[in-house]
Amino acid sequence: MKLNNEEINRYSRHLTLPEVGMAGQLELKESSVLMIGAGGLGSPLGMYLGAVGVGKIGLVDFDVVDHTNLHRQIAHTTSDEGRPKVESLRDTILAGNPNIEVEIHNIRLARDNVLELFKQYDIIADGSDNFETRYLINDAAYFSKKPLVSAAIFRFQGQITIFSPEAGGPCYRCLYSEPPPASLVPN
Ligand SMILES: [Zn+2]
Repeated sequence: MKLNNEEINRYSRHLTLPEVGMAGQLELKESSVLMIGAGGLGSPLGMYLGAVGVGKIGLVDFDVVDHTNLHRQIAHTTSDEGRPKVESLRDTILAGNPNIEVEIHNIRLARDNVLELFKQYDIIADGSDNFETRYLINDAAYFSKKPLVSAAIFRFQGQITIFSPEAGGPCYRCLYSEPPPASLVPN
């Protein structure tokens, strides 16, 4: 795999960093990330992953852009209202960097589709907004042996961590073995 002239120019500030360089940029280009959620966390995540040149980005979301999303889900604009979020985010990512590939999965993640999907990517990034999905993603990442970057927000708080049992760390269930009762905890 090589960079074309436009990419060499585009990533020049990376290429001159010893910590990235040509080898690092090619590694980014050869890597793939599956993002779950194209909302408040997915918007900046997708835009940054695309801008830095991650070669393949997968987007999973079944929601459509709503007027109340616009003040924080910055990949979606007013004219995107009513469109599937995966399409709106894909267009924003590709407008920023047309050299990469964005695959959209306009589906609800479920037990019968999650493993097949995870197989096609190197890293899983969870920006989902409910516990049911969060546990499903954890379990599927565990059995797929994929590193899971897990992020969540609530009002003015945010949390982020990486679960990588393959590297000797815990998984989400090691910390919280069961989902909390829905009546006690908001999504
Ligand atoms: Zn565990």
